[in-house]
Amino acid sequence: MLHLILFGPPGAGKGTQSAFLVSKYDLVHLSTGDIFRGHIKAQSPLGLEAKSYMDNGKLVPDSVTIKMLKEEVNKHSTAGGFIYDGFPRTVAQAEALDQFLSERHEKVNLLASLEVPEEELKLRLLERAKSSGRPDDANEEVIQKRINVYKEETFPVKAHYQSKNRWIGVDGVGKIHEITDELIKAVDAVI
Ligand code: ADP
Repeated sequence: MLHLILFGPPGAGKGTQSAFLVSKYDLVHLSTGDIFRGHIKAQSPLGLEAKSYMDNGKLVPDSVTIKMLKEEVNKHSTAGGFIYDGFPRTVAQAEALDQFLSERHEKVNLLASLEVPEEELKLRLLERAKSSGRPDDANEEVIQKRINVYKEETFPVKAHYQSKNRWIGVDGVGKIHEITDELIKAVDAVI
């Protein structure tokens, strides 16, 4: 079973690229942001808890996120594999994922990191705000906060998989299909 982490800062194009990879490799797409937004829409207790963190550009606590992620993986026992989008976002989440998968005699096969300069990210997120309806995209202060949280808490996740030699960096600026082609090459090399 393939376990692929699509990594990168907010606005790097993880959601866009996930859609192509999901259909090419028949994977289940697990976007923790999308799952949280589903809970917010349904006004579930988990949604109510997550909303205040998300609206302020902070991370939802690890304990909540890890529990939810495991439940989602367990829902798809017949899946060919998973693409993780927006998870793991802290080293603690990465360690929890590694532990969870090792209990299943599996592992993260690859972390593919989409590299995009900060100024480009801000422009993309403000542009996305026009159609996404996401409060966290519409406010420049919240965008900056999310980018700072990425740099401080999420970026070290890359080193975690770099040290295991299960990492690739891909230029996230360019034509969407060219970026997809780079990702496909990287995935094909590990399967
Ligand atoms: P983006 O990548 O554009 O920031 P996401 O949809 O991945 O958007 O995440 C939106 C928000 O959801 C994050 O700012 C955070 O509050 C919350 N969130 C998503 N995934 C996680 C996670 N793995 N751990 C903690 N919080 C998360």
